Amino acid sequence: AQDTMLYLNGVSVAFDGFKAINNLSIIVGPAEMLAIIGPNGAGKTTMMDIITGKTRPDAGDVLFDGRTDLTRLDEAAIANLGIGRKFQKPTVFESHTVWDNLEMALKKPRGVFSTLFYTAGRDDVVRIEEILDTVRLRHRQDELAANLSHGQKQWLEIGMLLAQDPKLLLVDEPVAGMTDSETEETAKLLREISQTRSVVVVEHDMSFVRELGSRVVCLAEGAVLAEGTLDQVSGNPVVIERYLGR
Ligand code: ADP
Repeated sequence: AQDTMLYLNGVSVAFDGFKAINNLSIIVGPAEMLAIIGPNGAGKTTMMDIITGKTRPDAGDVLFDGRTDLTRLDEAAIANLGIGRKFQKPTVFESHTVWDNLEMALKKPRGVFSTLFYTAGRDDVVRIEEILDTVRLRHRQDELAANLSHGQKQWLEIGMLLAQDPKLLLVDEPVAGMTDSETEETAKLLREISQTRSVVVVEHDMSFVRELGSRVVCLAEGAVLAEGTLDQVSGNPVVIERYLGR
């Protein structure tokens, strides 16, 4: 597991005796994107909760960046290591501009006290401009976040996570509620981000998963049911029977 960004090995967690995650093993490489699919209750959210330290597994290892055991750390420590999580609903500061949202995200790790006296330095300006380009919001940098479309708010929040310079980005159903063109752009944007960072996307929308073009893991009952390309996974007889089959 030396050159892996994320390595879940034999992870299990039970809630009141019910095994939500059951001997789950998953590997994500550096600068690799992985899409996680699976029916409701498959354990996708619980898996994300385990990676981010929100839920502690009963068994197994969660190794980050080839060495750090995440199961011993709390949520704040895990975030500081460079794991960013994007929840389904956007949580941007509506009454601030796009630029200010990114600037606040950029200075966040410097601590509450220093933020009182913070002004963006030259390096930060360059960094914010880069992020604006990545998340397709350069032309809206002075707009209040409240005035963005739903899709643009999602991109802004991804930008705010990028400001924290994560090595691993966890993204939960980013395109729910987006227009078709926003969905397409989101796939492109995530593909670009995954050139330099590891990205795990939990997603229900199969046409979006196809656009991501990444390796796919199908979870069911807290374990890996199938993995490979989307075609391999969706053509897998077990998946057809238990998930796609109707
Ligand atoms: P998914 O995200 O794939 O829909 P979840 O990870 O949310 O699946 O849930 C997996 C299973 O674990 C479900 O059966 C769910 O009811 C159960 N579960 C998740 N979290 C808890 C909890 N905190 N307490 C009890 N049961 C839970």
